[in-house]
Amino acid sequence: MDCGSTIWNVPYEYLFHTCNVISSERSERLDRLTEVAAEARGLMDQHGLQNWLLGFNHSFKQLGLCNYEKKEILLSAMQAIRRTPAETTDVILHEIAHALAGWKAGHGPKWKKIATRIGAKPSACAEAPTEIMERHQTIKNDVQVGDTVTFKNKQQQTIRGVVIRKNPKTVTVKVPGGTWRVSYFALETS
Ligand SMILES: [Zn+2]
Repeated sequence: MDCGSTIWNVPYEYLFHTCNVISSERSERLDRLTEVAAEARGLMDQHGLQNWLLGFNHSFKQLGLCNYEKKEILLSAMQAIRRTPAETTDVILHEIAHALAGWKAGHGPKWKKIATRIGAKPSACAEAPTEIMERHQTIKNDVQVGDTVTFKNKQQQTIRGVVIRKNPKTVTVKVPGGTWRVSYFALETS
């Protein structure tokens, strides 16, 4: 589908090729997806994501996904059809906030602030982007007590320290003059 400057990646035939829905129902679903795509594209452009792609996937569990590497927001086609328009709008804004906040922000304060500003519910309840969580899990597995790690403080200065404890969501890092609790997301391993 060509809409202005962007080619949308919306594989309608593929999405529905196994569905035995009657044609009027199918057409309603397509109409709804077209609406959602237009809404998402509009909101993405409005919030400065003109160079990000929009697509749909087949996920049932996840409502949306933000792929920072590919600069792509993916929405669940099935969920977009099932959910209320208000819920779907919230998912779009939720993912836009991720795109703007960057992957390190997770659902932390920076993401919450942006989510609130652009009108998304600042809660992580609806979805857990697998890529973020996988990355989080990888860092969590890799980092060991005794490792030297670096991270940035609020002033964006790089701090170097040694991991002295692994907590469920953070690591305790000993630095000259004290200890810090640092989110796994924020660690830069070297
Ligand atoms: Zn999220």
